[in-house]
Amino acid sequence: MDHPARPKKSFGQHFLHEQRYIERIVAAIAPRAGDFVVEIGPGEGALTLPLLAAAGRLTAIELDTDLIPDLKARAAAVGELAVIHADVLKVDFTALAHRHGAERLRLAGNLPYYISSPILFHCVEHAAAIEDMHFMLQKEVVDRMAAEPGSKVYGRLSVMLQLACRVEPLFTVPPGAFRPPPKVDSAAVRLVPLAAHERHGADPQRVHALVKAAFAQRRKTLANGLKGLLDAEAIARAGVDPRARAETLSPLDFVRLAELEAGAPG
Ligand code: SAM
Repeated sequence: MDHPARPKKSFGQHFLHEQRYIERIVAAIAPRAGDFVVEIGPGEGALTLPLLAAAGRLTAIELDTDLIPDLKARAAAVGELAVIHADVLKVDFTALAHRHGAERLRLAGNLPYYISSPILFHCVEHAAAIEDMHFMLQKEVVDRMAAEPGSKVYGRLSVMLQLACRVEPLFTVPPGAFRPPPKVDSAAVRLVPLAAHERHGADPQRVHALVKAAFAQRRKTLANGLKGLLDAEAIARAGVDPRARAETLSPLDFVRLAELEAGAPG
């Protein structure tokens, strides 16, 4: 393939060129004809074209205008490609699914690493409209997403993602598979939003506020970190040790704290 565009650092552009990794991601996604697949950051189309070939139609969200004409030209013979020229953080996935008459969409993408966490939090907000997600990210971010309590990298991302999705790390990809190579290893991950009956019933904003406060001060005890939000007595009422540190709490401990806060007397 020729490369007409110079990759732009400011857009986090690292184009995947090693065929075997492209094939592994597409195989993991296993698109079916008629799926409503939405790709974040199609770039030069490394994933777009094989996904389009399998699904027959695809909607791609790309911020860099310069890449769009060439992408559309190459997709024309393969399937029905719609490109939304936008910042993915401003795209309402729930409205997008409804507009297409789809109950849920399937998200995919080799994400721009400079905004990978904001994209993940954005997806969590729209989890009910998403069937599954397959992303390429910095390996370090995938490790944080899948981390368990007690691990050094367990934090806000782990808790918020695990409360909304099943997190399944897939495989590691070396820098040399991209042009230009990023400075770090990458990894593919699958996220499957929990079904309605598996989701917790606490107010998601309340949960997020507690998780954020607790991990902002991860070296402090919970009672100190959550000062102003919950006192030690209330924390203990949820069955959590107020002297514990945030990194030892399970995602469901945070849910219990959020529920308690909502119902706490006085
Ligand atoms: N999918 C291509 C591949 O695998 O070769 C490109 C991946 S590259 C890591 C990230 C892509 O996301 C680039 O095409 C970049 O222009 C696009 N991008 C960057 N910021 C974006 C944003 N805020 N919204 C949508 N796309 C964005």
